[in-house]
Parts: sequence; C-alpha cells; structure tokens
Amino acid sequence: MKKITIAIDGFSSCGKSTMAKDLAHEVGYIYIDSGAMYRAVTLYSIENGIFDGDIIDTEKLKKEIGNIHISFRLNKEGRPETYLNDVNVEDKIRSMSVSSKVSPISALDFVRKEMVAQQQSMGAKKGIVMDGRDIGTTVFPNAELKIFVTATPEIRARRRYDELKAKGQEASFDEILENVKQRDYIDQHRDVSPLRKADDALLLDNTNLTIAQQKEWLFDQFNKVTN
Ligand code: C5P
Repeated sequence: MKKITIAIDGFSSCGKSTMAKDLAHEVGYIYIDSGAMYRAVTLYSIENGIFDGDIIDTEKLKKEIGNIHISFRLNKEGRPETYLNDVNVEDKIRSMSVSSKVSPISALDFVRKEMVAQQQSMGAKKGIVMDGRDIGTTVFPNAELKIFVTATPEIRARRRYDELKAKGQEASFDEILENVKQRDYIDQHRDVSPLRKADDALLLDNTNLTIAQQKEWLFDQFNKVTN
C-alpha cells in the first residue's frame, strides 16, 4: 500500500497526539509530536539562562540553536519519548513551567525555521503522522490527509488536568485553563505560521466524542484516502 503523509493540527490539549499516536501505531507509520520539539527548545532555554523572567535572550538562543539536538526514542512499552541532547526529558517538557513559556519561544522565526527543517527531513520518506499547529499549512502542505482538531477550552483544560494528575504532577485547573487560552491566543496571532486550519483540512470538533469514537473517525478518513 502506498505510504502517505498525515498532518494533524489544532488547539492545545485537544487530543491530537492521542489520535495521531494510535493511528501511527495501527498502520505502522512514524509518529512525531512536533509540540514536544518546541517544548524541548523551551526547556533548554529555561535550563541555560536564556530566560530572564519572561524576557528571552534571543541572540543567545540564536547562537545556541545548533546545539539543541532533539530526538525521539521508543520506551519499553513502544511509546516514543523525547530526548534533548541525549537526555530523556519526556516528563519535564510537560510541566507547567515549560507550558507557560513555550508559545513565545515557538513564535521566534529562527526557532521555527530550524524545527520545520528537522520535521521535513523526518517526513521525507512519507509514512508519517505528525501533529502540531502548522503541519498542514507549512511543514507538509502537500500532505494527503490533513485534520484540524478543536474542542472547547474548558474540556481541553480538564483533559490536561486529568493527565497531569494521573502522572502525580501538581496541577491547578484554573491555571491550566488560563494557560490553554493564552497559548491559543499567541499561537493564532503570531506572525510566523500562525495556527489556522488549512483550506483542505477536515475539521474535527471532539468536544463530545470519546477517544474510541474519534479513533474510529480518523481510521475511516485514513481508509478513504489510502483505498
Ligand atoms: O502540542 P503542544 O501543546 O505540546 O505544543 C506546545 C506549544 O508548541 C504550542 O502551544 C505552540 O506554541 C507550539 N507549537 C507550534 N507549532 C507546532 C507545534 C507546537 O508552535 N507545530
């Protein structure tokens, strides 16, 4: 069967990665969480003195961007985890301190240029499912299947809250809701590759869908394109 490229974009915490991961696993494709890459750059910036409060030392980051090596490796359960310069940062990049700083970092043009180049090379052979904000518009504008996912901010904050709690991490629902709304705003209004639905993307509002229902919907779309 011919391999295709699948781009899944949408708002933060709307279940993109769950559906993207499941589909990739089922059809034997590579799965890349592009948000994890922007989160890893943010973690690097926090840990290497690039932030002074909320101010970003863009000159320092520009000089160091070539030293930031991000990769994904499968853990024992076969799930991909994010590595920053060979250190597993999968849990750290999901913390609120990274979430609160990631959108300004990912609005920087030189950061996006570097990440997009890496993402395009990861998908050069097709057979990839990538999720993010600009995959269908900028990274893979020729993707054969594009999905744009959305849900209300409240339901997305609830899902993120439950996820953090399940991992035993500290979480405040109000803080998460505020962060979700703030990231939506910055992601939609930045100059470079703002979050928007590609004209040829299928819209999925999963506010009232279970994970199983959304999975079934995605498989149907995949089968329509590949059969
Ligand atoms: O998907 P996730 O919520 O983990 O992404 C974290 C942040 O990374 C987003 O809020 C957005 O600012 C940024 N991002 C992006 N472009 C992508 C993926 C994520 O700007 N393709």
